[in-house]
Amino acid sequence: MDDEEPIREYLSEALASLGHHVETAVDGVDAVDKLEHRFFDIVITDMLMPRMDGMELIRFLSKNRNAVDIIAITGLSMEYKYTDVVAAGATDFITKPFTLNELEAKLNRLVRERLMREELQRLAIRDPRTGLYNRRFFQNAIRKEAIRAIRYGHPLFLFFLDIDRFKDYNDQSGHQAGDDLLVKFAQILVQSIRREVDSAYRYGGDEFTVVLPHLPASHALAVAERIRRNYNRLSFHPTSVSIGIARYIDKSVGIDHDIADLISRADQALYHTKHGMGRDCIFFDEESRD
Ligand code: GH3
Ligand code: MG
Repeated sequence: MDDEEPIREYLSEALASLGHHVETAVDGVDAVDKLEHRFFDIVITDMLMPRMDGMELIRFLSKNRNAVDIIAITGLSMEYKYTDVVAAGATDFITKPFTLNELEAKLNRLVRERLMREELQRLAIRDPRTGLYNRRFFQNAIRKEAIRAIRYGHPLFLFFLDIDRFKDYNDQSGHQAGDDLLVKFAQILVQSIRREVDSAYRYGGDEFTVVLPHLPASHALAVAERIRRNYNRLSFHPTSVSIGIARYIDKSVGIDHDIADLISRADQALYHTKHGMGRDCIFFDEESRD
């Protein structure tokens, strides 16, 4: 963002030649408008501009778009001190006149840090064995989905799934084969649910969960049946899959209580498949039925 056209053109061409996708804005108001419509990783902004200046833009972005990194460009006169700009929310700072190499070095560092941050975020929410979300992330996700289900008044289902006789499979085929089975099962889960809508989690050991918002009970049951069918096709003898299903019920005792109740009913439904029905089956929590 710069109000001087030659600078905008020079920098956008130079950055594009480094492989970045670049858009330009003539001032803060123009930049905010562009940021409304597209996601940007990095904003490079001049400080002195008509309408909304660099400092205002930095404050706005750090309040409303904290995933964006900002590099502030200041003039020699040092209208703004490094500390002021960084305190307002800029990630870095470059002083005119600067060489393209300097800007490139700063950009490269930012890109490296962003990639590292993304990797850390991924590791924090994923199970390394299967690549599914982990149990900690499940706790966040189920809460978010419950809030959404309450707000929009749509149903929310939870599956608890466990591999039957997995210990026997480990004993017969070895721990590595057991690990491979878990990876295969995770793939089946992901393939059997709606992308971007449903989500699958490794809850621990050979236990998994699936969260399915906004669908009728009959469809939830059909998904569970599809998972079992797809798994049984792989013939990992002597294993099979059991699934307990529960629906979120607003019992007017508070959302945390209702989530704990949902998890408990799905877990009990799974328990019933193991100890009441002899495994390799699905049990739909009675309270959850229409
Ligand atoms: P059930 O039919 O009642 O589900 O019994 P199960 O034999 O499947 O045993 P259970 O679910 O009670 O215990 C899960 C077993 O899974 C225990 C543990 O040895 C094994 N296990 C847990 N995590 C892993 C893992 O990451 N890799 C492998 N190979 N085995 C695991
Ligand atoms: Mg098991």
